[in-house]
Amino acid sequence: MDLEHEKRLRGEYYPLFAYKANRFSANAGIAVSNDQLWFLLVGLLAGILLTSPLFVLYYRRRLATEVRQLELRRAEYESCLKEARTDAVTRLANRWAFDAAIEERFATYRRDGRKFALAMVDIDHFKPINDGFGHQAGDEVLRHVGRVLHDSFTDAFLVARYGGEEFALILPGGAVSVAERIDRVRRRIAAEEIPTTAGPLRITISVGVSEAGGDAGVAKLIGRADESLYAAKQAGRDRVYLHDGQRPTGARPASRQRTR
Ligand code: GH3
Ligand code: MG
Ligand code: MG
Repeated sequence: MDLEHEKRLRGEYYPLFAYKANRFSANAGIAVSNDQLWFLLVGLLAGILLTSPLFVLYYRRRLATEVRQLELRRAEYESCLKEARTDAVTRLANRWAFDAAIEERFATYRRDGRKFALAMVDIDHFKPINDGFGHQAGDEVLRHVGRVLHDSFTDAFLVARYGGEEFALILPGGAVSVAERIDRVRRRIAAEEIPTTAGPLRITISVGVSEAGGDAGVAKLIGRADESLYAAKQAGRDRVYLHDGQRPTGARPASRQRTR
């Protein structure tokens, strides 16, 4: 029986870990005294206490770096998403953004019943502008029309470039009030000269308006606006037609045609 174990038997304070450590060191052929064990334990505890603030500091810094990187990645992702939804020429929302927005607006309409209308705007005789004055002038005209529509309808749910020389506007209110508002913009566009690198140009637009209502879904809403736009073109262009749920109506007299 070793000395330490005798101490234990005599009832002297002798913790179990010291006993175990003693047995272990004895078996390994290393003589470790009780004092040395206490010294080791206190040393270990002191080491942990002294170094733990450093660990906390290190991990806090690491966490802050990770959070910063995540924020950067989120900002990058959001800017990519914004770019993917933006038309490169006009910087308006593009077709993809429009498709999502009209579905969303329709879902909201089904919940709250707040009327909204869709206006499809098409530049009249746009191809001859490209052919006669070049694509750059064509782009400038597109940008001009996009800007006028955007600035004229600040309350719009969305002003988008639908494709080519067509724009789509999702606006609050019924077809009649929206048609009246957009007709004022149509007249303004027809009346002003657009400064382009190929010289000042004049254009006109045709518009088809439809409103959400009844059991008509998104496809019908777009179909009716399209139908009205087609009717406006057929009736001579430079005018606004709206769909009353049965057929397109409401032709307005044409103002000026495009001149250079
Ligand atoms: P309508 O009065 O019947 O609408 O005739 P339009 O000439 O305006 O229509 P059409 O569909 O014949 O021509 C549309 C043109 O729009 C053809 C295409 O080259 C042009 N276009 C489409 N996208 C762009 C674009 O991003 N930039 C330019 N400059 N032209 C474009
Ligand atoms: Mg077109
Ligand atoms: Mg056109």
